[in-house]
Amino acid sequence: MSKILKKSFESEPLSREEALEILDLPDDRLPELLDIVYAIRRKHKGNTVGIQILTNARSGSCSQNCAYCAQSRDSEADIDKYSLVPYEKLLHDGRVARDSRLARHCIGLSGMRFGDAEIEAFAGQVRALKKEFDTQICCSIGFLTPAQARKLKDAGVNRINHNLNTSRNFYGNICTTHSYDERIANIRMLQGVGFEICCGGIVGMGESRADVADMLLDIRELQPQSVPVNFLIPLEGTALAGADTSHLTPEYCLKILCLARLLTPKSDIRCAAGREIYLKGREKSMFCAADSIFASGYLTADGQSVDEAIKLITDAGFEYRIESA
Ligand code: SF4
Repeated sequence: MSKILKKSFESEPLSREEALEILDLPDDRLPELLDIVYAIRRKHKGNTVGIQILTNARSGSCSQNCAYCAQSRDSEADIDKYSLVPYEKLLHDGRVARDSRLARHCIGLSGMRFGDAEIEAFAGQVRALKKEFDTQICCSIGFLTPAQARKLKDAGVNRINHNLNTSRNFYGNICTTHSYDERIANIRMLQGVGFEICCGGIVGMGESRADVADMLLDIRELQPQSVPVNFLIPLEGTALAGADTSHLTPEYCLKILCLARLLTPKSDIRCAAGREIYLKGREKSMFCAADSIFASGYLTADGQSVDEAIKLITDAGFEYRIESA
């Protein structure tokens, strides 16, 4: 393993075999891995951790069938369903982001395709938000046409989240209404329009370790500015409600975060959904690899408050990254 870590430290790309070796590492060698990963994280990100909040700006009634998602067309989860939220909700969350000097305000909209009128309405909300606050805005907004993407870019959206979610090989097991390659094409189009990209995945959906490695290797090719790593929270009413997540031990979750850092060392590595469940009590180790977390919950699952997240960061011996407005 020392050869792999030396390569990573010197920014030499790891091979697929080397990526798998990280995920297969015996648990008793994890401290050694964390030490080196922490040195790489310090080199690129210092000792700071950023916090993001997420507004669910359009919820439920999606035409797609992503198995993990409470908003999918096949989900029977008991969630709120609404079209675009009133501007006051975005304004409220924008104020929370500004007052807490958070890294960015993420806005998620359920659905895969949007009409031009919907994009125009949302772009208007973004323009108003940007006039009010200087917070960076990230959107999760399905597939856009190039014209729609340019409209949102002009409105002031800084970054777009579009996850690969799992490997190409496993993709058909979690979704059949769109393809992995459509996701990659959408990300490439968004990069062409000039957006920063947030691209990650979800672990614990029945995929193999090789699938996790393949997903992270494909993400490396896309060079996203941030990589959210989610650990499955099996939600009642979704196709994955009964998923067995017993293999998501803290050690395995930490190795995945370490691999994300080794493959995309300069990106924000965001430990997203599931951290409160699978990495509870292991935050110090988690921050050796990750430099960013969410607070105030996820799209359809609860999470910690901003104040609790700040305390978590400082208690673990890290600094809360304050964004200058
Ligand atoms: S993940 Fe997105 S595209 Fe998939 S079902 Fe949920 S809202 Fe729709």
